[in-house]
Amino acid sequence: MNAYHPLNEGEAIVIASDLDGFFPSGASLRCREIGDGNLNLVFHIIDDASGKSLIMKQALPYAKVVGESWPLSLDRARIESQKLMLDGKLVPELVPIVHRYDADLALTIMEDLSDHVIMRQGLMNGARYPHFADHISTYMARTLFFTSDLGCNQQEKKLAVGDYINPDLCKITEDLIFDDPYTVSSNNNIEAAIEDAAALLRSDGELQMEVAILRDKFLTKGEALLHGDLHTGSIFVTPDSTKVIDPEFAYYGPIGFDIGAIIANLLLNYVGQEHWSSEESVRAEYRGYLLNTVRDIWNGFQDKFTALWDEHGVDRLASTAPGYRDYYMTTLLRDAAGFAGCKMVRRIVGLAHVADIDGISDDVTRERCQRQALAIGTALIRGHRNISSIEQLIDSVTAPV
Ligand code: ADP
Ligand code: MG
Ligand code: MG
Ligand code: MG
Repeated sequence: MNAYHPLNEGEAIVIASDLDGFFPSGASLRCREIGDGNLNLVFHIIDDASGKSLIMKQALPYAKVVGESWPLSLDRARIESQKLMLDGKLVPELVPIVHRYDADLALTIMEDLSDHVIMRQGLMNGARYPHFADHISTYMARTLFFTSDLGCNQQEKKLAVGDYINPDLCKITEDLIFDDPYTVSSNNNIEAAIEDAAALLRSDGELQMEVAILRDKFLTKGEALLHGDLHTGSIFVTPDSTKVIDPEFAYYGPIGFDIGAIIANLLLNYVGQEHWSSEESVRAEYRGYLLNTVRDIWNGFQDKFTALWDEHGVDRLASTAPGYRDYYMTTLLRDAAGFAGCKMVRRIVGLAHVADIDGISDDVTRERCQRQALAIGTALIRGHRNISSIEQLIDSVTAPV
């Protein structure tokens, strides 16, 4: 039973019943596989009598990509569970509790968050999450600060990097985000209506120069332990609560990559609101809410990160050199802007799209939104090294495109 194989629902129930004292003994458990099955299996296991439930996520040894199988190391399940458990120490209220990790089965047993909704869906429904900016800026400030050379013993950090070597998942990002959209690739997924705009990405040398700079940072800048896939599909929300899931792409990389992921996905939803809120006054208000959220996330992140730096900074020179902190925070904002741009572009022309845009049924509206997302994304990429404030970033979203 313990040798690795993809579990079925019956086997998942047997494993869940064995979890020391979680379910009442003799409980009759129900199980349903609720993942999309492309990379991982996700089993939802519930005992109707006690109302107790849990989630078991099992990694598959491949991803199904454009009809082919792309081998993927099962070690990502260890990385995901280890990162969730570390987050459980740094930000316990913002991640699911991990009950158990089984290395043989590449399986993580965790808290069931079914009383939350996936944020992407919530935003498509026009919901507002008044505490989200506070929560996610806390998540990023604490997880990124305490794993960086500013907040972590620098010799220990070097050893910790080895626990998060994640070549297969990093390669997905390196290819799908930082390479394929700018060349002819069978991994791309481009609607015929925007082929002209996609062709421009492949011929624009200045744009590609900026992408190469960002790609190099992703490859080489082991600044802190990232979540690595921090989009609105990796976040469960209610109006009061935020829980970050799915850190299987975790590795030591540039801090701006996590921040940029959140910003990009809020901006993709911003664009898609042309469809999701059809009434113009409602749309304008909701778009205002989304941009305020972007602003609050950056400002909250900056305040909390620098407060942690004041209180827990371990690097003497970084803490005392005049002007260094401003330089550091401005660099993070610029990185975040550039990575946000790359993430917007890849969600329009790359392999994996987002429902905020692809879920738009009307062809003409969807095309207009795709073009607008590309315009905002490329503007962020082009301008990222000159951005000096969050207002400037927001202006580049609302400027006529
Ligand atoms: P993948 O890496 O395959 O994207 P996720 O961790 O994002 O897997 O999970 C896929 C889906 O499974 C989520 O969108 C959510 O619907 C469900 N899911 C995952 N974790 C939980 C959880 N802890 N509680 C409830 N549902 C979950
Ligand atoms: Mg999935
Ligand atoms: Mg996911
Ligand atoms: Mg995932």
